[in-house]
Amino acid sequence: MNNTLKRLLDLQNLDKEIIEIQREKDNVIEELREEQIRYQQAADDQFSKKENKNQMEVDKKKLELDIEDAELKIKHLEGNQKLVKKNDAYQALSKEIKAAQEAKIKAEEALANHIKQTEENSVDLEKGKTQVDEIKKDLLKKADEAKVQLLEIQGKSKRYKLIRKDIVKEINDKYISSYNNLYEKRAPKIIVQANNSMCGGCHISLPAQIIADIMSLNDGDALVTCENCGRILYIESNEALAE
Ligand SMILES: [Zn+2]
Repeated sequence: MNNTLKRLLDLQNLDKEIIEIQREKDNVIEELREEQIRYQQAADDQFSKKENKNQMEVDKKKLELDIEDAELKIKHLEGNQKLVKKNDAYQALSKEIKAAQEAKIKAEEALANHIKQTEENSVDLEKGKTQVDEIKKDLLKKADEAKVQLLEIQGKSKRYKLIRKDIVKEINDKYISSYNNLYEKRAPKIIVQANNSMCGGCHISLPAQIIADIMSLNDGDALVTCENCGRILYIESNEALAE
């Protein structure tokens, strides 16, 4: 195979690897970011639960005061009732006492519900704390792993860039610039096979002359491109013939 073609194929393969490690890097960062979000959400959730707990304590005090108020009111009304002589006034006070007793019962029921809810919340709060701790542990572990992975990727990336420089040095500038131009439009397929008389990039039928030109390509010859998509063409089976 033509020497420039060989080097261009090396370049194309290396560029595929470079894209692949960039993707790996993006994945590592994305996974870590997702874990961070998961932790943040759990922590926020736990914070809301704690705030709710504080509010519940305030509400509980209020209900206890309501009960106390109702008790005082009942006592006061019952005292008054003992002093009245007239039946009308007595009946009116009875009505008021009944209303106060009902209010007291309502507040007591609300308090009982409230206590039950507080107990449930307390279990939930504990559970939440354990969850947040676990997620934090996962996050720290993931961050450590990501650090190692990113260092590996960085090392690979540096090595690939050095290899790329060497390959580029071996290729005529003219072909590097056409490779770069094609890369913009056609990446990652730039140098494609022309097997079965078809362009491996755009799949158009190639004229017999083009195939003949590729087959007879020698070192130093101008490379053959697809007239339709502009990709650089080669024939794999040519390799055996040429070498
Ligand atoms: Zn083509």
